[in-house]
Amino acid sequence: MKTSPVDREAFQRMAPGIITATGFLGDDPRSPERIIEEDAIFFDELGLDFDTVAERLQELAKRGEAGLGEPITVGKLLVQSGDARGMLPCPWEDGFFHKNAVSVSPADIPLEACVEGEDMLIYSELSIHMLKVHHFCQGRGSPFRLEPSLIKRLLF
Ligand SMILES: [Zn+2]
Repeated sequence: MKTSPVDREAFQRMAPGIITATGFLGDDPRSPERIIEEDAIFFDELGLDFDTVAERLQELAKRGEAGLGEPITVGKLLVQSGDARGMLPCPWEDGFFHKNAVSVSPADIPLEACVEGEDMLIYSELSIHMLKVHHFCQGRGSPFRLEPSLIKRLLF
């Protein structure tokens, strides 16, 4: 990946306290460039592509809205779509996105037993946008990290 000045500015906006209190990098020691490069490799290895994953996440978020904030079963998954509370800018400054949190977990594990990032994906409209357009799944340890292996296990 060739890092442009626009990318470099976006990476700076991922730090805690700029767009969100916790930022987008979690406790991942890797640079955003590395995170993006390595996740692209994981996507390839797992046979995932960014557009298809983004569509699936979008579709589940939509289905989850029927639960009006309560978790509902969608196939083998439990989906909970929270309210959209305000908007967040993308670190690349190419748009504003709803701050809604959607959680997706296996329907056969009680919600309170699920561990974020291990058997539960949490994402917002901004997460979907960053995955689709910038191929950025966020850093490990970020609550909104879209871990490729977990995407594969839960969504496909
Ligand atoms: Zn963007």
